[in-house]
Amino acid sequence: MPQSAENIKDHISLFSEPEYKELLAQKKANYECRPSDEKVNEQLEYSKTWEYREKNFARTKAVINPHKACQPLGAVFAAAGFEETLPYVHGSQGCAAYFRSHLARHFKEASACVSDSMTEDAAVFGGLNNLVEGLLNAKHLYKPKMIAVSTTCMAEVIGDDLSAFIATAKEKESVPADFPVPFAHTPSFVGSHTVGYDNMIKGIFNYFWDREKGEVKTGASNGKINIIPGFDGYAVANNRELKRYLDAMGVDYTLVGDVSEVFDTPTDGTFRMYDGGTKLDDVRDAINAKATLGLQHYCSDKTLEYVASKGQATASLNYPMGVSGTDAMLMKISELSGKAIPEAIEKERGRLVDAIADSQGWLHGKKAAIFGDPDFVLSMASFLMELGIEPTHCLCTNAGKEWDAQMKAVLAASPFGADCQVWAGKDLWHLRSLLFTEPTDMIIGSSYGKYLEKDTGIPLIRLTFPVFDRHHHHRFPTMGYQGALRTLVEILDRIFEVADASSDISYDLTR
Ligand code: SF4
Repeated sequence: MPQSAENIKDHISLFSEPEYKELLAQKKANYECRPSDEKVNEQLEYSKTWEYREKNFARTKAVINPHKACQPLGAVFAAAGFEETLPYVHGSQGCAAYFRSHLARHFKEASACVSDSMTEDAAVFGGLNNLVEGLLNAKHLYKPKMIAVSTTCMAEVIGDDLSAFIATAKEKESVPADFPVPFAHTPSFVGSHTVGYDNMIKGIFNYFWDREKGEVKTGASNGKINIIPGFDGYAVANNRELKRYLDAMGVDYTLVGDVSEVFDTPTDGTFRMYDGGTKLDDVRDAINAKATLGLQHYCSDKTLEYVASKGQATASLNYPMGVSGTDAMLMKISELSGKAIPEAIEKERGRLVDAIADSQGWLHGKKAAIFGDPDFVLSMASFLMELGIEPTHCLCTNAGKEWDAQMKAVLAASPFGADCQVWAGKDLWHLRSLLFTEPTDMIIGSSYGKYLEKDTGIPLIRLTFPVFDRHHHHRFPTMGYQGALRTLVEILDRIFEVADASSDISYDLTR
């Protein structure tokens, strides 16, 4: 027996034992009816060719390994960033189980979210009763201050009207008439999780600014800046970094949808279902801010349009990362708030530039493939070019023509972007073909890139959501000068690991 109490083997080592190797070989030979190894290898080699790449890119219907999630995931994430708020998904409950596990696997943290479990009969008669009972149960069991409702595709396909249903639930006293129940229709067959995030933030503003009777007090500016961070797997550290900058500048602000506490609660004997988040009174008052700034354009498009319709100044950025990305954010905040950027922050910038200069020889001319959400890819490409790295393939499944044009303009602004290509709406199976036919030195993306790494041998650097197979990356920032420094170190580490592994003669102590 390969197993013993003194040396317990897990599945990694156990199935390498001779008994298991023999068993698996027998199974393969006698029962699996597989093609021969030669045939499999032949097909595998063909899948790496230009000819196969052309066939792969001719796909019009099939999607293989897309890098995006559905709208309600973004809505659940957005809702979690408000004070004692319970994300509530109207529709089938399997979706809520998936959203919770998806977020929990990334943050290694509990992720609260409820569903009203619509089933076959609701698909025929509508989900009104589910919502009436669901709100009542959720309010009594989990005692939130706000319940933020989004929808699964089932509820969208049958056309449930959230506004009317919530009004009916309040008439039936599921929750008090003045209890905040903002909502957003989040059809998963439109856009992606970034659109769901946008819809939910807009829905929450809309509740406090238009639907809540007699509460919203508009008038003189409150002198604050609203900041919407967007869907961000690194929000725990990035929001803290952002607040550090804003405090150092003396800016009065409201961070809209702040998940930095709820996705990073301490282990001290008390389970916190809710923690931190944007105060509901601050959301009510956010209508009186001087301006609203979206840190990720493709996560706040509709919200900013709505904010502008209230007569407020708006602006958006594309994930403030790297030197120029952070410069743009700080200068925009300075412009909107009238506050200067202090010397301490300028010094941080200088230290980042110093680090880039120190490592330039190892970075110059390297090639990278990037995938992720639209703002992340834009910003990462721009940062890589600051480092002298060519972002050879910039791929974004949940992007369209606007992003494509913006991305091409970013690449055109630097000589390092000259031979780079933009792939809007493509998936990771497309990226596999690109990496075999036009290889790069690194892949920058999420954990889903590990299969590309395994297939192609090109090292993966995990820098965007989701990171399932490494722990605690989200506790360190990617935004701002500190985030850029951390990103730089991760890129350098992989470059050095490859250098160390590739030569005995040049196995230098000092690099
Ligand atoms: S695509 Fe539809 S069914 Fe699937 S998780 Fe999203 S909302 Fe649920």
